[in-house]
Amino acid sequence: MSDQGSPRTTVHVGEIAIGGGEPVIIAGPCSVESHEQFSQTAEFLKALGIRLMRGGAFKPRTSPFSFQGLGLDGLRIMSDVARATGLKMVTEVMDPRHIDLVAEHVDVLQVGARNMQNFSLLRDVGKAGKPVILKRGMAATVKELLLAAEYILQDTPDVILCERGIRTFETATRNTLDLNAVPVLQGLSPLPVLVDPSHGTGRCDIVTPMSRGALACGADGLMVEVHPNPPKALSDGAQSLSFAQFRAFHANITRMLHALNAEEAL
Ligand code: PEP
Ligand code: MN
Repeated sequence: MSDQGSPRTTVHVGEIAIGGGEPVIIAGPCSVESHEQFSQTAEFLKALGIRLMRGGAFKPRTSPFSFQGLGLDGLRIMSDVARATGLKMVTEVMDPRHIDLVAEHVDVLQVGARNMQNFSLLRDVGKAGKPVILKRGMAATVKELLLAAEYILQDTPDVILCERGIRTFETATRNTLDLNAVPVLQGLSPLPVLVDPSHGTGRCDIVTPMSRGALACGADGLMVEVHPNPPKALSDGAQSLSFAQFRAFHANITRMLHALNAEEAL
């Protein structure tokens, strides 16, 4: 079920267009940990031509004893690094009370999987004047994701969906990346669909093949975690690519995009 013919929504973040064209890559650490960690990663990504960076300042952690994110200090690091590098920034907003604060510091607001049906958040997050990435809940159907998106669409057309894996009986991976959802969502909705193979697998060793799968089935972009020193990461080290791994990932994906473009031109 693909939406041949129907117009796709394109969401603009500065000069970057998401949806209906060249796939985008959003990359960065799971959490903003320090100015040094974040700016080092930003410089690395910028040198590879990445234009959109992610990082968590308010972190939705399963355990209250885990690192919870730097909060406002993390947002300040993101806006400083954005100013220094020109990269556009994406971060999660967890609490409706933080929407304006987060929107002052970054370019794109993210609603995380755990908040996909936080209806107070959904009602307000579209009012901030920034594009919103809505991640699929780990136990949410495609229909529930699309209905959650409708809340945000009341206030802004700039909504981007993100498949990030769902809970299944499988334990070999953190989640089961549901690539079915990409063409299914695109058949039901004009909104751009990203795929997050980092949370979708929980394993840095299969981020590249699943990214290739995502692009092959038509994803409008990828969201990938990368860290200067994954074993020392304060969150999600096991799924974060090192710089060397990211370089290889990026070369691989770039080759694939060229091949897809060449195929389209035939
Ligand atoms: C994230 O992208 O930082 C994140 C927490 O992902 P998810 O909401 O998909 O678990
Ligand atoms: Mn993460």
